[in-house]
Amino acid sequence: MKLASVILDIPTQALDAPYTYAVPADGGDGDQPVEVGCAVLVPFGGRRAVGFVVALEERAEGNWPEGLDPAKLKGIVRAVSRPYFDEEGAACAQWLSERYLAPLSSCVRLFTPPGGVPRMVRSREGFWRLEEPAVGEVDDRWVMPGPAFAEFTPRKNAVKQASIVEALRAGELRVAELAAEFGAVSGPLKTLEKQGVVRVERRRRMRGMQQDESQGEQPASFTPSAKPPLTAGQAAALAAIDAARERAAGEVVLVDGVTGSGKTEVYLQAIEATLAAGRTACVLVPEISLTPQTVGRFRGRFGDTVAVMHSRMSQGERFDQWDFIRSGQARVVVGARSALFTPLANLGLIVIDEEHEGSYKQDSAPRYHARDVAVWMARRAGAAVVLGSATPSIESLHACAKDPTWHQVALPERANGKPLPEVRVIDMAKEFSSGSRSMFSGALSRALAEELSAGRKAVLLLNQRGFAKFLLCRECGFVPECPSCSTSLTFHERGNFLICHHCGYRISAPAVCPECGSPYLKKFGAGTQRVEADLRVLLDETPSVGPQVPIVRMDADTTSGKGAHQRLLEEFAAADAAVLLGTQMIAKGLDFEDVTLVGVINADTMLKLPDYRAAERTFALVEQVAGRAGRAELPGRVLVQTYEADAAPIRAAAAYDRALFLRDELPKRKLLRYPPYVRMANVLVWGASEEAVRHSAEALREGVAAQVRDFGGQEWDVLPASPCVLAKLRGTYRWHFVVKCPLNGNLSSVLLPFFRARKPERDVNVAVDVDPDDL
Ligand code: ADP
Ligand code: ZN
Ligand code: ZN
Repeated sequence: MKLASVILDIPTQALDAPYTYAVPADGGDGDQPVEVGCAVLVPFGGRRAVGFVVALEERAEGNWPEGLDPAKLKGIVRAVSRPYFDEEGAACAQWLSERYLAPLSSCVRLFTPPGGVPRMVRSREGFWRLEEPAVGEVDDRWVMPGPAFAEFTPRKNAVKQASIVEALRAGELRVAELAAEFGAVSGPLKTLEKQGVVRVERRRRMRGMQQDESQGEQPASFTPSAKPPLTAGQAAALAAIDAARERAAGEVVLVDGVTGSGKTEVYLQAIEATLAAGRTACVLVPEISLTPQTVGRFRGRFGDTVAVMHSRMSQGERFDQWDFIRSGQARVVVGARSALFTPLANLGLIVIDEEHEGSYKQDSAPRYHARDVAVWMARRAGAAVVLGSATPSIESLHACAKDPTWHQVALPERANGKPLPEVRVIDMAKEFSSGSRSMFSGALSRALAEELSAGRKAVLLLNQRGFAKFLLCRECGFVPECPSCSTSLTFHERGNFLICHHCGYRISAPAVCPECGSPYLKKFGAGTQRVEADLRVLLDETPSVGPQVPIVRMDADTTSGKGAHQRLLEEFAAADAAVLLGTQMIAKGLDFEDVTLVGVINADTMLKLPDYRAAERTFALVEQVAGRAGRAELPGRVLVQTYEADAAPIRAAAAYDRALFLRDELPKRKLLRYPPYVRMANVLVWGASEEAVRHSAEALREGVAAQVRDFGGQEWDVLPASPCVLAKLRGTYRWHFVVKCPLNGNLSSVLLPFFRARKPERDVNVAVDVDPDDL
């Protein structure tokens, strides 16, 4: 008898194990055979549920798996989808579940097409029924001449028929196009079809691709791009990648190259070699850098074999790209981290650009890191991984130093031979003590005036992390906070309101203190809007610059709409002299020829955050943004304003001196037991009752500590449970505790049995974050 292991598609926090079902000998009552990766309909607890087949196994009578009672064995009703993944995908889901202590159902879900999974829904009458995916294939109806086309003679008054036939003389047309031209055409088309004058045919349409100009973001360039001869450094990097791929052992090549050193060109040629070897490539790019330009560089080289996946595409567009990949026509996938799970067969290369980016870590279950998943996948597939960054993560640098399967290649110079811009640190504390109250130092103001009046461009970065604007009562110290989250509300100048950036709670800004009635409410911090307003005043007061110089502001507010990010960048690119002002998002992937000045308004605000990566992030941010200046003919300069001019990450970044930064940072990591010297798991507990959450967190911590005593080792730590930094979020209370183990410790396998055995509680949620990105 054939048995299937099925993961039910039901949201759960339990580390669910698959259920076993019998595969009906006749294949069930559907057309699709039951295969690994299929969604199936199964009986479950008196009703039916949808699940995914993760394994199939032939078992002889009497040779049942342990614990299986054949009398109670139920059968699969039928398969309700084609396979979404194969055995390899099922193995990956299993690994993800164990490695990240995540429900298997959440891991399997990664492999399903965007929005396209059948599910059981309850109708208004209380019946359960299977609902087909809302996002499926889209057809277009096309009209073309039929057998009787030539004989057509229009009847009098049948004007539309005549027009349609006339239009078809030039070739086939979409019904939608005809309708746009002549209004309702379905009646006349039916008549014409009956007479054999035309034929109407449904054809598959791919949403979000060049075939369909009406939708989606269009790639900026589809023109074939020429392949430049590589520099010596690039050639060495390419050779290392090719060799790693040919050894087919899942090796990693870290391309440690400054901004503009030609890393992307190396990826392109490594992909070309991969395709030539008959294999495929998956390229991960931070979501924010997935612009039409980026996609255009890949399409320019590999044409329409490139599939694209990112969250700003509609579900329909993503579904079509997914289907395009499954069809085997796509040979290169460019996408955000989830692109790893698309059904790309015969994988030979995985590229992760800007590998230091925090966005490669998913912040909901399964809390995976794309880099670690890529390495696992590459080992299984006999592929290679390429990591690229100007500021590699400390973990990757460490792995290159310790692990013989990790190789580091450096591209210390820009491809065009231009020097990296000089970086000057400006001590804002000194500015302040000399009487200046402006957020723009004298040096930055002068530099702006010089560059802009000469018709050149500037980029200003406002470090948003830990730096939003809030109200404070000067008499009683009251700060308006969100009633559901333990954070102060952010003040918005335009519209005069306060908003919680976690849950969206919004009130109009009070004129007097709600606590003591004092009118002295001071606005603290500086949001991008405030900086924009002050900058406008500064530019307008500078005679050689004046009001005609545009300021393009790019932050969470101005980039929320589809394509908004792109539009702002184009606006900036099209202007003569202009300032691009924005948050972290401007530091990524931005490549403008004529930016000659980069200013960082506040380099240090992130340093004070309770996060072990604060210094690493600060170093990377300053280094990354500096690389945006002077990329082409004109030399660039970088001014970094800070209240902590002596802080090592800032001094080191200004000197492009990674060794200096690491000499300061690594001993601290070692002493305080943080990665890369240990591995960590953060156990999160949340719920509506503060008491229940605290109690549960403490009890869990005791349980985990006992488990670690028995199965871990001497060098393991289980820290006390405590409230999270954000102790209250969207009305729920949050506690956590941290487990640390030596680098070679089996973090997941020690914790897994404990969390598998744990009974979920009703009012309290628990999640484990293995290798948390911040803490
Ligand atoms: P990175 O990805 O490291 O920031 P890019 O690959 O975007 O660098 O390259 C920066 C610029 O240099 C691009 O305009 C690119 O076309 C150009 N470039 C890259 N490699 C070469 C080369 N070997 N010869 C000439 N130009 C190159
Ligand atoms: Zn007050
Ligand atoms: Zn809130």
